[in-house]
Amino acid sequence: MSERFFSAQPIQAGRLRLVDDEARHLAAVMRAQPGDEVILFDGSGAEFVARILASGKQVVELEIALRREPERELPFQLTLAVALPKGERQKWLVEKLTELGVTRLLPLITQRGVAQPVEAAVDRLRRTVIEASKQCGRNRLMEIGEPMSVDEHVCAIAAGADRLIADPSGQPLAGVALNLQSGGELHVAVGPEGGFSPAEIQTAQAAGWQPVSLGPRILRVETAAIMLAAWATARAEHP
Ligand code: SAH
Repeated sequence: MSERFFSAQPIQAGRLRLVDDEARHLAAVMRAQPGDEVILFDGSGAEFVARILASGKQVVELEIALRREPERELPFQLTLAVALPKGERQKWLVEKLTELGVTRLLPLITQRGVAQPVEAAVDRLRRTVIEASKQCGRNRLMEIGEPMSVDEHVCAIAAGADRLIADPSGQPLAGVALNLQSGGELHVAVGPEGGFSPAEIQTAQAAGWQPVSLGPRILRVETAAIMLAAWATARAEHP
């Protein structure tokens, strides 16, 4: 795959300017020259082959040569609500979930959770989504939603969707039957290091969520989230 660059502005036919980080990356790191071709995407699902017209340190001018829409998304919507770990582990989780094709990540506020993401942290995570999408070829950005409490979240999702909440005393994942159809929704929730409280599990169950066990070992938050995302992705790609 050729080098990919992200435009925060929607891309249209004709000419386009890349500025700031993306322009610096293209001009300085890639040593791009007029006439070179690169791939651009804007998060809309399409990607564009573009030719460089002029390249400066702050601004790169390009001309769109071709628009295409390769399908690299899952055939259903996968939402993970996760009591996010901190620091590097959080960033790593966001990178891997982007690669796995997760549609939406919602930071979950839990009774036993630690500090919750602030606006600046969420902005940094959005930047991580862009970096991971450049690398893995995704043309739609994984959304990062607003933080929500477990009670709010489990009651907000319509009963028609498949809904799993990771809990060591749930039923084994291998025995879980999904209704999932193309265009359907799968929702998964993962708790904090201290686990979901019994009240949170009860509320989720009452709202129709299935508690699922991921095996006899206790996984870190990010391992549990990635295991569930990988499991769902594998089902999608080999139904
Ligand atoms: N001490 C906690 C474990 C927390 S692990 C407890 O007993 O619940 C952090 C989160 O990862 C959990 O809330 C759960 O959502 C998920 N998780 C980790 N290991 C798991 C397992 N073996 N089965 C199901 N969920 C698991």
